Amino acid sequence: MLLKITSLSAFDKTEIVHYYNNETNEIFDAQLKEVDVAALTGIEKKPYKTCDRALFPIKKTRSLSKLKIQLGLKCNFNCSYCAQAESRHLSKSDSLGDAESFIASLCREELSIKPGGRIEFWGGEPLVYLKTLKKLIPALRDMYPETEMHIITNGTLLTYELVDWFIEHRVSLAVSHDAQGYCLRDLVDPLTVTRIKNVWLYANQKFREAGLSFGFNVVITRANCDLLRVYDYFQRHFSPETNFGFEGIVQPSTPCDILSEKDAETLEIHIKYILLYHQEQFKSITDSVNKVLRALATKRPISMVRARCEAPNSDVLVVDLKGNVISCQNYSHATHKIGELSNYDNILSAQFRHWKHKDIGCKDCVVVQFCKGGCPLQNDENCINDNIFHLAIFKTAWFLLFQADIQKIENFESL
Ligand code: SF4
Ligand code: SF4
Repeated sequence: MLLKITSLSAFDKTEIVHYYNNETNEIFDAQLKEVDVAALTGIEKKPYKTCDRALFPIKKTRSLSKLKIQLGLKCNFNCSYCAQAESRHLSKSDSLGDAESFIASLCREELSIKPGGRIEFWGGEPLVYLKTLKKLIPALRDMYPETEMHIITNGTLLTYELVDWFIEHRVSLAVSHDAQGYCLRDLVDPLTVTRIKNVWLYANQKFREAGLSFGFNVVITRANCDLLRVYDYFQRHFSPETNFGFEGIVQPSTPCDILSEKDAETLEIHIKYILLYHQEQFKSITDSVNKVLRALATKRPISMVRARCEAPNSDVLVVDLKGNVISCQNYSHATHKIGELSNYDNILSAQFRHWKHKDIGCKDCVVVQFCKGGCPLQNDENCINDNIFHLAIFKTAWFLLFQADIQKIENFESL
């Protein structure tokens, strides 16, 4: 799809016209002469092997890059926009499998974790399942002594003793916290509760000393789209040495979660300012813009774009303690079971839908190369937040290339 992109020069406010091909990542000027983005950015050109990533693998391999263990979907919070909210009621009455038989199944199947791979523990809220974790983690540490282990938690159940215990077993932690946007989760921000804040400060120091990561994962919502304040928030309410990154934008569960035009404008302005003046403080946003620049400079073909996340990959396995293999940790086995550990060769990873086969217009979308069609388990017409976020990143990359603000994007083929 060829798109006509009209922008306004930051210098003299004149209109500039370019054409962008979302399949080849090529940009042409108004005379249809190709723009050499590699020369403009100093990014090295890179040949891509011809490949078609339009199909997802069906089988799972025994050599894994990621093993995600879903402990259960229970949580001590009830955040309005939780990606697991729909599945939670389905697993309410589920009894948990036991850690011993789970470990025995892993041994029997001889699953290995590749160098650089990792094991993740997922809830719900993983610390609700502390008794299970206490059995599981030491056993897994014996089996996979070198493998990175990681937990994403809301952090409210963390204690000093647990911090020490996680460090002893070399499990890194990320606390899910949306800075000034926390008000959409709960009335009481844990950073205002002295007991919790002190434990987090202790963790911040101890994990750092142990060479393990500890930080905050922030989801962008309408309550924190003024991203520059996120840095100030953690500086003021937590520590000058806060490590945080963005997990992306909230997937709307209700119309309230959708960013308004004004929110989108705020997000765009803040991302642009971050790239111009605050790259050091906002590494994950800077990385996202750099990825766009790299894709444009190397002219990454759309055939290289597979999926938003790694869940469809053959070497990523999501499993619960009963040995149910699930397509993604955010869903219950009741709806998303794709096989069983005990019948490994017959796991059928068939629930994913490639963006090419979605009927929501991904092919014609200006940000398809970066949004990658959204969640591969959804054919979600309501991708407006994804569109807002990726467009803000794309517009910032455009500004860095041409010092011009995008005003209009039109389908050139239908003009
Ligand atoms: S923003 Fe929507 S249409 Fe565009 S690629 Fe993402 S999911 Fe597809
Ligand atoms: S399939 Fe991927 S994008 Fe969809 S909910 Fe799971 S991890 Fe997120």
